[in-house]
Amino acid sequence: MNVSEFRRRGKEMVDYVADYLEGIEGRPVYPNVEPGYLRPLIPTEAPQEPEAFEDVINDIEKIIMPGVTHWHSPYFFAYFPTASSYPSMLADMLCGAIGCIGFSWAASPACTELETVMMDWLGKMLQLPEEFLAGKAGEGGGVIQGSASEATLVALLAARTKVTRRLQAASPELSQAAIMEKLVAYFSDQAHSSVERAGLIGGVQMKAIPSDGKFAMRASALQEALEQDKAAGLIPFFVVATLGTTSCCSFDNLLEVGPICKKEDMWLHIDAAYAGSAFICPEFRHLLNGVEFADSFNFNPHKWLLVNFDCSAMWVKKRTDLTGAFKLDPVYLKHSHQDSGLITDYRHWQIPLGRRFRSLKLWFVFRMYGVKGLQAHIRKHVQLAQKFESLVRQDSRFEICAEVTLGLVCFRLKGSNQLNEALLQRINNAKKIHLVPCHLRDKFVLRFAICSRIVESAHVQFAWEHIRELGEDVLRAEKE
Ligand SMILES: *Cc1c(COP(=O)(O)O)cnc(C)c1O
Repeated sequence: MNVSEFRRRGKEMVDYVADYLEGIEGRPVYPNVEPGYLRPLIPTEAPQEPEAFEDVINDIEKIIMPGVTHWHSPYFFAYFPTASSYPSMLADMLCGAIGCIGFSWAASPACTELETVMMDWLGKMLQLPEEFLAGKAGEGGGVIQGSASEATLVALLAARTKVTRRLQAASPELSQAAIMEKLVAYFSDQAHSSVERAGLIGGVQMKAIPSDGKFAMRASALQEALEQDKAAGLIPFFVVATLGTTSCCSFDNLLEVGPICKKEDMWLHIDAAYAGSAFICPEFRHLLNGVEFADSFNFNPHKWLLVNFDCSAMWVKKRTDLTGAFKLDPVYLKHSHQDSGLITDYRHWQIPLGRRFRSLKLWFVFRMYGVKGLQAHIRKHVQLAQKFESLVRQDSRFEICAEVTLGLVCFRLKGSNQLNEALLQRINNAKKIHLVPCHLRDKFVLRFAICSRIVESAHVQFAWEHIRELGEDVLRAEKE
């Protein structure tokens, strides 16, 4: 493909994408294929000779689309949203064109500098405490990670290094291995599985703290675990608090947990992967109160802020906690400005070396929507969730299972887990809408998450009537 063909095909591709998204409502939200469907549809080897672009593009509808779950369909209510917007997709195109690997300032100065400034913009949108911002002279700052899972892992590893150095400074005879086996970290029993996984990867013990009746981690339960562990000679060093849990969007009590972390010298990391986007609205900002106690904070603009995957925003109060933990300087990565103290080399803030120019997506989206446009998107989703909640509450055969704060509604038929499993199966077999379940304590619960950028009140109404009809079928079948 030469440049003139690229011009033509590129415009055709934009048309294909626009047609796809414009017509997405007409496609079945969930594919009708069996595992292994794709292999028989394509050759067993890559072609020796180049093929025509037409042949490639024609295969998209034949081979790919039949196996796609349409996450941007207005009938998709599963998991949490994954963001998508036109400005973000255009920025991604430009990112592909520049195609730099921005591991150091020198590797592509704009890539680093735009990221630092965009993370300050975003931090200000959330009203993060000044200490988390880089500014011109701050000690904190933001970095774009690939995912919330990576952000938690990076925070845990940095905390591990910090506590190890502190203990070794006091008792030089202590080996790193002797310290590691005594370290213990805490998370709520409602935290995302990636949190426990960070402990597995980081080789430290993790303990789940039982959440309260509203699925929140509270001071008393954390304090109890701490006392037990300290009495047993363990070294508590790290706590993950979740704002907006994946199962039911509950909020750990930061104002209780934060002061304990300060007193016990434990690193506090906040995972607000989904809910974080809502904090740009003044009416939801109170949910972030207590962030001043945290050492690191993370959320995913790629979930709910109209920035396509991947873009996970992480801030630290002391960037030297990260750079001090992960820094290695082989000669082939050195550059003449690096010791000036004025510049950022993001490779020291993350696990991989390579990184894309992801801040372009933030820059395009912030400028094309404005803060007001982004706030309107969040508010619309929250209102649709409230609408669904009130529809469920009007039917006494159903119950709401957790407080609805943002865009997620947890609900079920009153009755057994078996009944609700049957309902979910009917919903997902009918393939008109798509939902996933969760467990809250020992209850099987259906999650209704407002996801699509283009979802409207009529889609929510349709989804509810569909669920209610299938619910009636399930109740009838139970009686027979
Ligand atoms: C979605 C989610 C995650 C995982 O996000 P990734 O970016 O895919 O790693 C972590 N924590 C919470 C609370 C989530 O909702």
